[in-house]
Amino acid sequence: MREARTTCPYCGVGCGVVASVEKNEIVDVQGDPQHPANFGRLCVKGSALHETLGHGGRLTRPIVDGVESDWDTALDAVASRLRKVRDAHGPEALAAYLSGQLLTEDYYVANKLFKGFLGTPHLDTNSRLCMASAVAAHKRAFGADAVPCCYEDLEEAELVVLVGSNLAWNHPVLYQRLKVAKQRNPLLRVVVIDPRVTDTCELADLYLGLKPGSDARLFTGLLAWMAARNKLDRVYLEAHTQGFEEALAAAREQDAGVEAIAADCDLDAERLETFFYWFASHLHVVTLFSQGVNQSSSGTDKGNAIINCHLAGGKIGLPGAGPFSITGQPNAMGGREVGGLANQLAAHMDYDTPGARDRVTRFWATEGLVPCLPEGPGHKAVALFEAIERGEVQALWIMATNPAVSLPRTDRVRAALAKCPLVIVSDCMANADLLAYADIVLPASSWSEKDGTVTNSERRISRQRGILSPPGEARHDWWALCEVAKRLGFGEAFGYTHPSEIFDEHARLSGFENGEGSDERRRVFDISGLAGLDRAAYDALEPIQWPVNAAAPRGTARLFTDGRFATPNGLARMVAVRSRPPAQELDAARPLRLNTGRIRDQWHTMTRTARSPRLMNHRAEPFIEIAPEDAAALGVEEQGLARLQGVGGRYVGRVRVSRGQRRGEVFVPMHWNGYFSGSALSGALIDNHVDPVSGQPESKHGAVALAPLAVEWEATLLVADDLDVAESRWCDRSRYWARIPLGAAHRWQLAGGEPTSAHGEVESASPEWLSWLEATLPVPPTLWCTDPASGRLRAAGVDDAGRLRWWFMSGPPRELPNLAWLAERFGEAASGESMAAEHRRRLLAGCDDGAANQGPVVCSCHQVGQRAILGAIREGDDSVEALGARLACGTQCGSCIPELKSLIEEEKAHALAEPIEDPAVA
Ligand code: SF4
Repeated sequence: MREARTTCPYCGVGCGVVASVEKNEIVDVQGDPQHPANFGRLCVKGSALHETLGHGGRLTRPIVDGVESDWDTALDAVASRLRKVRDAHGPEALAAYLSGQLLTEDYYVANKLFKGFLGTPHLDTNSRLCMASAVAAHKRAFGADAVPCCYEDLEEAELVVLVGSNLAWNHPVLYQRLKVAKQRNPLLRVVVIDPRVTDTCELADLYLGLKPGSDARLFTGLLAWMAARNKLDRVYLEAHTQGFEEALAAAREQDAGVEAIAADCDLDAERLETFFYWFASHLHVVTLFSQGVNQSSSGTDKGNAIINCHLAGGKIGLPGAGPFSITGQPNAMGGREVGGLANQLAAHMDYDTPGARDRVTRFWATEGLVPCLPEGPGHKAVALFEAIERGEVQALWIMATNPAVSLPRTDRVRAALAKCPLVIVSDCMANADLLAYADIVLPASSWSEKDGTVTNSERRISRQRGILSPPGEARHDWWALCEVAKRLGFGEAFGYTHPSEIFDEHARLSGFENGEGSDERRRVFDISGLAGLDRAAYDALEPIQWPVNAAAPRGTARLFTDGRFATPNGLARMVAVRSRPPAQELDAARPLRLNTGRIRDQWHTMTRTARSPRLMNHRAEPFIEIAPEDAAALGVEEQGLARLQGVGGRYVGRVRVSRGQRRGEVFVPMHWNGYFSGSALSGALIDNHVDPVSGQPESKHGAVALAPLAVEWEATLLVADDLDVAESRWCDRSRYWARIPLGAAHRWQLAGGEPTSAHGEVESASPEWLSWLEATLPVPPTLWCTDPASGRLRAAGVDDAGRLRWWFMSGPPRELPNLAWLAERFGEAASGESMAAEHRRRLLAGCDDGAANQGPVVCSCHQVGQRAILGAIREGDDSVEALGARLACGTQCGSCIPELKSLIEEEKAHALAEPIEDPAVA
């Protein structure tokens, strides 16, 4: 057994991981105690990393025109077809769409090839969907896309304001750090500003459940309030900023006092003023903002409204102070560093940076090349797919992302992809529904195989190390790009043999002519201090925060500590912000405001996290969260099925009635793709309105209609993974389906038919079930029984060798037995074991001890279900500690603690509401 240090590939916290490796297999992962992002902690996703590995479901060979091929053929095809499109339609007919999942070295090579050598500006990334508005706000205010803060600032602050961030679910380790800081310093206050009551509110001293989209109104109101009460730092404003008067004048245009702001934000005026007072009266304030701010048609303005307040109060460049944008993806910042956004050139130089185009041309030695470096920015993500739709872009190389799921108007994106003459997809998983649109598929290496660097939200560069060999013929993305470059005649510039050489070039470019011109400020992104590392030094590189250069050889924790910014005159720019409502308007046809976001245990389109069955148990099916009053008014029930209709399609999911949801608003997760459910693409519900500055789509502000999905029947089918059945045979029968990996089997939740009963209830078992099962599955029913009272059918198929092949139950999923027991039986079958006689006897009951289904899993680390927790609470375990002592829930990564607390509170509320029996009467 050996240990290898690497980095988690999920969220922007960028935790260090220690992987235990045995015989080319990772058998365990632990948090790296030496990594400064997490100091040994991991959340549930990180701690399940080793469960998401394995070669099953991986792409292992290139595919050309639907036929498995070899690398030479595939690379020749990529190069010749790109050349053909360029020759026929010009360089701007070529495009690339990248991902914050890529390593910096992959990103660097892609940017260099497409912009520098193919001469197209159309290279953008899915980071456009995540933090482009924060990038634009940083550039407008600071002159550079530079995050001023570091994680320690959360621990040094007197006040932490979380805006549009469910930190507890989306950046759990950072949330744990904040929680510990609050325990150590009871004077540290936390304010949560979010339309939804999320698990993050567990830490809140003050919660402001504002109207979606009113964030800019709140922060411009705060600026006006600070000015009116003489709470500005006039000395700082005078010495270090410009544009204050204009920014204040714009804020005052809408300001009519706290009452008016509160009314516009749909908040209680007293609570709002409490926040204003807290913000204004503390110097050490961190405002942490995330997708709730960025994913808006006014996201850049919202970011600047927040930054304005920090500049106006001098709350920046100090320990425990500053506006802090947290990225969603592990390497969103690395992509920004190399120029992976369509409006960037390279190494934090934009097209309008004086001398940048000439400098990059000389550095890459592309003088005289035709076509040469583009002269201006390319299409940002949404515009890129519109250009494909119009036929202007004819060749697209997509790496490590799935725009067919994640972009708004997925219907149009899919139509554009279907129409695009050349689609090249580099991916590691075979179940991405994007592959259906690919002319050429290149099998990519994945986490634990890739070797390079990533940069987290606090500008910390960490090594992600290659620990395992890629399966089959999967190869690194940078290698595939270089091979194509060589075939296009650019071999000299792409002769890298190891990622350390790419990193070295990237580091040298960051320092190249940096700040040398007489009228130039130093570019903040400068890692020239890391240039020249040999392979051994690169491999041993410890996490370090940029800038890293001669002046800061050990890196830089905080930026702008001297009050000098990266603007031409060194002054921060305050931006005049005028609040405006979401672009997607509500109307009679679509009266509900739609919010979209992540859930605790899943990542992006689930291609990796769904490989760990325990991560699927927290929220197993796509869902729709809705306020109780709206649920009652619209006739939908907890755990029933409902349908959302949006501008570009429909979404079907299970209803979750939640008091944390504002009236008139619904929330859906963004994860489910076409492999996991038939109609649960959140992107289909979002129109493609974007922020005019950043190009980021308005994913938090959809407009939808909701109705119950009336069905005649519901059923659950568990099918062994290796059973050769065309999936569509049961999907076709269903108006709703969801696939839920269980380990050695897949669980299918199915629902369909038109309700026949007048009251619309789900009917009992259809009399056709047995014949349908016999016709659909290769192993006929061997055991079955029908409950005479309910008419429900349970059946199972056991093959001649005595192995469980499938299991079926008609009826809604709340009637399911404990599926863990059945999953074990499928696991035995996968290892070739036949079922023990006593198990076979109990098969239709679905468990060996009569244990019921435990409901949704709350603690993923210890697989503790909601029913067991509620049972323990009712028996008196009414604290997180007591529950942990009895059930072990909440004792590992801690991600479920807020949910445990909510369950305790809910149970207490129930108990109080229940009438107390009078013993005398009883
Ligand atoms: S907090 Fe983010 S980076 Fe850290 S383990 Fe969890 S998902 Fe990975």
